[in-house]
Amino acid sequence: MRCPKCNTALYDYPLDARNTIDLCSQCRGMWLKAGVLAKSCNADQDLPDPSFAYSQSKETRLPCPTCSNPETKLVAFPISNQQRTDIDYCTTCKGIWLDQKELPLIQAELKKAQQNKLKEAPFRRDPNSLELLNYQKLFIRQTGEPFELLGFETRNRYAIYDEQKNTIGFLTEQGKDFGSFLMRQWFGHWRPFDVHILSVSRKLLLTLHQPFRFWFKRIELRDPSGGYIGAIQQRFAILHKYFVIENVQGEVMCEVKSPFFRIWTFAFTRHGIEIAKLTKRFSGLLTELFTDRDNFVIEFKSRKLTEDERRLILAAAVFIDVSYFEQNPD
Ligand SMILES: [Zn+2]
Ligand SMILES: [Zn+2]
Repeated sequence: MRCPKCNTALYDYPLDARNTIDLCSQCRGMWLKAGVLAKSCNADQDLPDPSFAYSQSKETRLPCPTCSNPETKLVAFPISNQQRTDIDYCTTCKGIWLDQKELPLIQAELKKAQQNKLKEAPFRRDPNSLELLNYQKLFIRQTGEPFELLGFETRNRYAIYDEQKNTIGFLTEQGKDFGSFLMRQWFGHWRPFDVHILSVSRKLLLTLHQPFRFWFKRIELRDPSGGYIGAIQQRFAILHKYFVIENVQGEVMCEVKSPFFRIWTFAFTRHGIEIAKLTKRFSGLLTELFTDRDNFVIEFKSRKLTEDERRLILAAAVFIDVSYFEQNPD
């Protein structure tokens, strides 16, 4: 096999643990057989944008190192619309010729293209579950929509939306009996409360329960069969609103703090790093804070958060909202 540019014999060279290329010791160009680039980038194709490439392709006089027919010539085209460096390609065997220094350029474009594809890929939303791993941001909005399907009256109803404004689930605060009415009158947000988290099909997925306490508050998150997931525990702090989230083992999963002078932003931190954030929308202006107080946004900042950790963060956000932002509607 010979270099299409300088006719030097090519030699086998490892690209990574799984792939080899044919390298030219003279001009440092390289021949990558079909599929090698894709594998090296975990992409599903060798070219970042094949249709763009084909539309731009120009003939060259370079022979293909692999194809035996001497008439088979490589074509040249830019790597992508953003990266205009030309590479050479065989339309017969789909091998790619890269000059020295072109490998990182095409790999970067391939990875970018792959990420965009993942972002655009429509995932099938299961109406009976709320897979928080699929979302980076959740929008929570109070809604007047009736919930007759649930068979009981609910007080506060919230819808959970994704960034495209699709409804992905619901939160409802339970309680219609006279006892809870009295509690509400006398104790405001210190009363015990239960919040249900439902799928878009109104299937019960999670329950948040706050036992009645006068001082340090705590809510516990469970699945519908009563399985414990974790808890949000308020801790005493003078200058902050301060909570911790405990995981199922009772270990502190993260801390939640908000300075009193900025109560519309709560940072969820783990070892000092912000892993999630709760923001009351329209938080820049106090007047807006009060006119649209029931909208808030949860941002999952760390991609490493597990489903249960995300559920606990969602629960904590509800807890914060009910504790600090709810006004008596009665
Ligand atoms: Zn060469
Ligand atoms: Zn070829």
